[in-house]
Amino acid sequence: RFQQADALERLPEQFFAKLVGKVSAVAAQGHDVINLGQGNPDQPTPPHIVSALQEAAVNPQYHKYSPFRGYDFLKEAVADYYKNEFGVEVDPQKEVAVLFGGKAGLVEVAQCFLNKGDTALVPDPGYPDYWSGVAMAEANMSMMPLKEENDFLVDYGQIDSETADRAKLMFLNYPNNPTAGVATPQFFKETVDFAQKHDILVVHDFAYGAIGFDGQKPVSYLEAPGAKEQGIEIYTLSKTYNMAGWRVGFAIGNESVVESINLLQDHFYVSLFPAVQEAAAKALLGPQDCVRELAEMYEKRRNVFISGLQDLGWEVKAPKGSFFCWLPVPKGYTSESFADYLLEEAHVVVAPGIGFGKEGEGYVRVGLLTGEERLKEASDRIRALKIF
Ligand code: PLP
Repeated sequence: RFQQADALERLPEQFFAKLVGKVSAVAAQGHDVINLGQGNPDQPTPPHIVSALQEAAVNPQYHKYSPFRGYDFLKEAVADYYKNEFGVEVDPQKEVAVLFGGKAGLVEVAQCFLNKGDTALVPDPGYPDYWSGVAMAEANMSMMPLKEENDFLVDYGQIDSETADRAKLMFLNYPNNPTAGVATPQFFKETVDFAQKHDILVVHDFAYGAIGFDGQKPVSYLEAPGAKEQGIEIYTLSKTYNMAGWRVGFAIGNESVVESINLLQDHFYVSLFPAVQEAAAKALLGPQDCVRELAEMYEKRRNVFISGLQDLGWEVKAPKGSFFCWLPVPKGYTSESFADYLLEEAHVVVAPGIGFGKEGEGYVRVGLLTGEERLKEASDRIRALKIF
């Protein structure tokens, strides 16, 4: 009945809502569906973090408003974590903002820095929330293709200088959703050089910052010299500690960017439920064995699944980080027709690459978010289709 604001009208279509409908229809026919299409961690939050929440929740002090911008102890925990894990020093007061999950921060930073008609550089394929942030700001996207021959890293040499000069903000994400590409220290060095040259604010989404394989730990953008002057990193506990439902994230880095995000948030919310803040601080400061074990678990799943597909003769590469596999579709299919085919014939759900952008065509994304046996079962069902 009421006309929505222009910014809302610009929000991109929810591509994956369509997929959910198709999956429900197949499941409703009574088929045993193996859903590898989503990005929701299947494991529970480690028990010591749940206990910390339970204890904190009964403290009446924590039933009141939190301080605006969150408790100092939480921001200090983030600073300690960054020092221990990445060797990066940040000022907990000025260089850490507490967020309701990474997703909120990605949209907020676009609100803070993009005006109507401005340009943002966005990876293609990429996580669709970057599009939402840009759309809500009524700004425009200039896509940066992520190509397999370049290990899915942005090739800055391909961005013409007129576009680069026009761009105000750039989203990056490594380990990458959906391609599973991982960044090198050299890549982030080039990123800082490029951003300095063209005066671009870098927003690095580090949602999979704890999931690296083959003994390789993911690199933080903030490890690059000069990175903090040029941007921020968005970190989240969703994937690191299986806390997706808890909604805890951080924007870390450039002081003025952190201040802008805090200013915006001052007008939207008082900070997270205090007991969640306490449990989040305990997660960051506590033993990290659970995180290493989680990465090992995903690595084992990757090995089972990828070797199962390679045995079929499907030329797929093993990802080095994130919990996704990015698989080239066989000849004769689009990403969507192949995903439909796997759903209908094998009752295996994968996400069509086109849902992540034009450059995602030709691939499907698999989430390693079910146990090894189910993954093996999925590759056996694909084997039975005899397409390779
Ligand atoms: N960024 C990427 C690349 C993601 O895949 C996700 C979640 O799937 C997020 C951000 C959002 O994480 P959060 O749960 O912290 O909002």
